[in-house]
Amino acid sequence: MAERSSSAIYIHIPFCRRECFYCNFSKFTYERNSVNRYTELLCSELRLRKDRNSIVRTIYFGGGSPAIIPDASMTKIVEVLYENFNIQKLSEMTIEINPEECSMEKLRFLKSAGFNRISIGVQSFSDTDLKYLSRNHSGVQSLEALETAFKAGFDSVSADMIIGLPDQNKKTLTNNIEILSSSFANHLSAYILEGVKEFGGRRSPDEDHQSNLYNAFREKILNTEFEQYEVSNFCRAEAYSEHNMNYWKGGSYIGAGLSASGYENGIDYTNYSDMGKYSRSIENMKIPIADRIKNDPVKRALIIGLRLTNGIEKEKFAVYESGIRELIEEGFLEETKSHFRVVPSRMVVLNDILTYLI
Ligand code: SF4
Repeated sequence: MAERSSSAIYIHIPFCRRECFYCNFSKFTYERNSVNRYTELLCSELRLRKDRNSIVRTIYFGGGSPAIIPDASMTKIVEVLYENFNIQKLSEMTIEINPEECSMEKLRFLKSAGFNRISIGVQSFSDTDLKYLSRNHSGVQSLEALETAFKAGFDSVSADMIIGLPDQNKKTLTNNIEILSSSFANHLSAYILEGVKEFGGRRSPDEDHQSNLYNAFREKILNTEFEQYEVSNFCRAEAYSEHNMNYWKGGSYIGAGLSASGYENGIDYTNYSDMGKYSRSIENMKIPIADRIKNDPVKRALIIGLRLTNGIEKEKFAVYESGIRELIEEGFLEETKSHFRVVPSRMVVLNDILTYLI
């Protein structure tokens, strides 16, 4: 049979050593028996999704904290991926990991298992910020983790950063940027802290403060070797995340694991986020999809495409042109010869721009 279009696979591992108060991902506290059981279920789901025709270029293990599962479980999952999918031409396999898990031994194992890209949950190099976030690591540990990952042989080392903590200021951001630019990271993702409620002595961040910090971060990081290519993503030496670029360009991808999302044959879907329903579906030999949505393809491409700094190809979005022209007049969007894109300093209000357009 002829090879079909290339695709990607996202694998969700929903276990963490502890649960961070600001995190909305689907996850459980690590417990060995549960991990073993989940590994079996996930492998069964991958077998149910078997597809040897599509060429898979990228695989991304997210969570949760996927790197905390035992090496034997990871080896098993990777073996099942090789058995059931065409991944001979794989160019990128990423795993998320926390700094305190980045021992040379663990990183060498992950490298030998086939991972060539690593995304480290640095969040900030400020220990004050890390204390607010109740993280288990220090700024120094993060810096060491980035170096260890590079020395372990990863082609691409990414740092996940958080912007917009209540007491974060421009000095902290400047310090973070200076450390990042002289570190071994060649990619970074910078997300604005969301969904924090006042609790005990903990304050929730103010939106204007967060917008100011995001714009300050953007401006300062662009004075280094890093360039922005998506609203939250920056890289140097063209070390883009191929997996995420496939998503933002509307490529198909399989989502496997509890609550994972995928996009195949024009349908967006989400797996069950309830472990009971997820496991019963697999035991009944059914792919554990809870919801399927057929979105308007042009609208979908607009929503995800405007996240990219290059924007969207003009000719494909004629139906939105009058709204786009109004936003150009008002200074939110701009046009190049071939593309419409968000004015860089307005990236922070992307959601408002999209709400207006659709
Ligand atoms: S370690 Fe990461 S995935 Fe786990 S709870 Fe904290 S932020 Fe969420």
